[in-house]
Amino acid sequence: RTPVFFRQNWVEVDKSDFHFNLKKIKEHLAKDTKIMTVIKANAYGHGGVALAKEAQKAGISWIAVSSLEEGITFREAGIKTNILVLGGLYPFENLQVAIVHNLTPTISTMAALSALEDMAVRHNKIANFHLAVDTGMGRIGSLSESVYPMLQKIAQTPELNMTGMYTHFTVADTDPVFTQMQLESFTKIVKYARQTLGLKFIAHSANSAALFRNKRTHLDMVRPGISLFGLSPFKHAERFIKLKPVLTWKTKISFLKRVPSGFCVSYGRTFVTTKESVIATIPVGYADGYNRLLSNKGDVLVRGKRCPIAGRITMDMTMIDVTGVKGVALGDEVVLIGAQGKEQIKVDELAKIQDTINYEVTCAISPRVPRIVV
Ligand code: PLP
Repeated sequence: RTPVFFRQNWVEVDKSDFHFNLKKIKEHLAKDTKIMTVIKANAYGHGGVALAKEAQKAGISWIAVSSLEEGITFREAGIKTNILVLGGLYPFENLQVAIVHNLTPTISTMAALSALEDMAVRHNKIANFHLAVDTGMGRIGSLSESVYPMLQKIAQTPELNMTGMYTHFTVADTDPVFTQMQLESFTKIVKYARQTLGLKFIAHSANSAALFRNKRTHLDMVRPGISLFGLSPFKHAERFIKLKPVLTWKTKISFLKRVPSGFCVSYGRTFVTTKESVIATIPVGYADGYNRLLSNKGDVLVRGKRCPIAGRITMDMTMIDVTGVKGVALGDEVVLIGAQGKEQIKVDELAKIQDTINYEVTCAISPRVPRIVV
């Protein structure tokens, strides 16, 4: 359902572009390689439930989320697809929540494995889980020396059903040699679990960068996130296949004035007009996730023209210099991210000004900005 909103500041998420990107990703894979769509953190700010529904419609095998909360929200929205909760669940009692809501937890330690076993026995259930192996990311996951006793325990315990095993690459975008080393450490463990212990499970490792750079990382299933949204995992996007950015962030001019030369705009008086100017105010601020580092640096689009941000971005409002935009009027649509006419503001452009990655820019768009699926 389209949310009702009064403040003219919203994100449009184009579902056909999302499906286009999924199709492009599929074209890169062998026929039987599965896809786990990583739509954690509210689908990198794009709107989790809406895109989980689209992923389900596309027949995706798995969805990855950040937390039990996200998984429960998806289940309550009617998502039936397998859901993996990435990240370490702590305290271990939370594993019970995963069992109750049919969410697959990630297990990285013997302690978590034992806790899961206890819970499965108590609930008289078989507990499904994926085992995370740390081959070089240094975040979560069992180190390779401790993974063998865990695998032996899994093989001996009927209540523990390891449906998947995964690792995560740290430099898939920049360092093929280290990535290959991680892949080899992982496949050695996968081989042991399969051939020596007879375990059956899905092995997965590839994020978007690995997926596009190295087919050997695909294994049984790939785990793309950023590319689903049409954004590149690479700093220099030239290696990347053409995808379509799914998100457009829009607002409308809510106040407009003609001002003389020498007029100051916003906190700190950092912007002063040098000629008679037209300044518009838009209802977007840093509380919406419009980063304050864009003050006096970023552009927006009005009537297909680039207009600079004038002065500091404030909590709920921002001023833009629309001098020279022919016919500019109250209520004109303003694009913060996306295309208008022949112009485009890319997420990467904002990321560069903010000295960060495109991932952070869309994740930061605050929950108070309504997401509309178009
Ligand atoms: N797998 C894991 C464990 C992740 O944490 C992430 C994202 O951070 C991904 C896959 C997806 O990565 P990307 O968005 O670069 O495709």
